[in-house]
Amino acid sequence: MSYIIALTGGIGSGKSTVSDKFKSLGIPIIDADIISRKIIISNTKIFNIIIQHFGLTILNNDGSLNRAKLRKKIFSEQKEKKWLNNLLHPLIHEETQRQLMLFNSPYLIWVIPLLIENRLDHLANRILVIDITRKEQISRIIKRDKINKLEVKNILFNQVKRIKRLKKADDIIDNNNIKLKLDNIILKLHKKYIQLSYEYFLKKNIK
Ligand code: ADP
Repeated sequence: MSYIIALTGGIGSGKSTVSDKFKSLGIPIIDADIISRKIIISNTKIFNIIIQHFGLTILNNDGSLNRAKLRKKIFSEQKEKKWLNNLLHPLIHEETQRQLMLFNSPYLIWVIPLLIENRLDHLANRILVIDITRKEQISRIIKRDKINKLEVKNILFNQVKRIKRLKKADDIIDNNNIKLKLDNIILKLHKKYIQLSYEYFLKKNIK
């Protein structure tokens, strides 16, 4: 068992950039997006239900799922998003719980973009929010994903507002500045989390 740090933030805020740095310090990373991808790929039944629902046009030429197309569909239609969520959430939840219990490192990082939206904050011991302004966020997503402003806005519509997310934060990384010394910030947090984990498990063992 490890002390659980939930790493959250809007799309394009810098979650992967930050989690890569914790990973290079040897900290285990549990990634909600990887879990959901794995479930679709490794569970034939789920894969077939998705194709049956959206039609064969949701596939690439090689028979794999076209994630960009799926994303476009679910972010432009609320009812499709709800349908997919209902299908995947129980399995995602089960696999997440399994992975969260798997490690024995002092702490682990759980990258969970929709922590607040899906009310999962009770599963974490601490919440680290990566924060950027909406303007910077939109420009980074357009540059990274080569999608247009309308698509970005559809995605953002489904995510909680900055203020609401920040209210839940125990720690915040302000990732607006390109000249940010991210390595130093992560190292500081790393030391803090080791300390917090030590105190947490000490208290638990005393009880
Ligand atoms: P997320 O995982 O939250 O969607 P990413 O870590 O992929 O976000 O970051 C989004 C984009 O912004 C990436 O192209 C990344 O290289 C870039 N990026 C991240 N942090 C910074 C920063 N401090 N300055 C400039 N670009 C950044």
